[in-house]
Amino acid sequence: MISRREFLETVAAAVPALGLQTPPPNEWGTRVFDLHFHLRPQPAANLAHLDGAGVTKANLLTRPAALDQVKALQATAPGRFTWFNSYDVTRPDAEQVLTQAVKEGAQGFGEMKFHVAADGPELRRMYALAADLRVPILIHFQEVDHFPNEGTWATGYARSFEAMLKAYPKTTFIGHADAFWANVSADYRNEAAYPGGPIVRGGVTDKLLGDYPNLFGDLAANSGNNALSRDPSFTADFLQRHQNKLFFGSDCSCSDGRGGGVSQNNNPAASRLAGKCVARETLGVLKRSASPDVFQKLVWGNIHTLLRIPA
Ligand SMILES: [Zn+2]
Ligand SMILES: [Zn+2]
Repeated sequence: MISRREFLETVAAAVPALGLQTPPPNEWGTRVFDLHFHLRPQPAANLAHLDGAGVTKANLLTRPAALDQVKALQATAPGRFTWFNSYDVTRPDAEQVLTQAVKEGAQGFGEMKFHVAADGPELRRMYALAADLRVPILIHFQEVDHFPNEGTWATGYARSFEAMLKAYPKTTFIGHADAFWANVSADYRNEAAYPGGPIVRGGVTDKLLGDYPNLFGDLAANSGNNALSRDPSFTADFLQRHQNKLFFGSDCSCSDGRGGGVSQNNNPAASRLAGKCVARETLGVLKRSASPDVFQKLVWGNIHTLLRIPA
């Protein structure tokens, strides 16, 4: 951890070098918003990824005590960052901490990645709070370890999450990660983190996105990219069908927006994206698979509508 003073000094040093008020033009043919970008300690490292990948704006996923860093980054690059906040949902003060974050400007809860059940009491109170505060909640669903003893996260998605969508109709849910995306295929039974091959139509996620106006999907990470890449004949229809419900996100950890460094946090199960920038890969598959107007909604328009911010 660096101190607040060191951080602000780093910002001051970075500003003249970056000189960023407006992002450089990109190759994607539209402005791009990355919904799923984990805050990096150094301000310049955040901007290096956005600029390298051709991303105009990003939503910072943060933990408590990140407020100073968020404000400094917003001051360095005005208009380029929104932020969500997350906090251990098993702690008794979770509601208090997250309510305070929203008062300080957080525009959502996330990412919520905890070893609890998707329909358990810990997350249920967060679903209720998100509705009260009128902010979306971004959830990491995962049933299969990436490495021994990793554990599972927001478990029971395929079996129990529909009941949550029904029980909390005023909550805006954003689904993400392995179980959410593997369940685009109707034959999925938690065998692999990232299943391949043709998609069997009628999967849980496809159905829930169609049936519930309070469910949205975050296309980030290897999970989202894999679901979009495994069966091109499925992808085009899927994007067309849910064109108002999906958001581009990267969850990329590469250093430069071009695949430098480590792109998937050393996740051994996601080696298909090693050496690649997840943002670039997913923007590429979206651009190839969607019409220009649908692409623009997925990478820019939809999230501005959801967060009620000017595009
Ligand atoms: Zn995640
Ligand atoms: Zn990247």
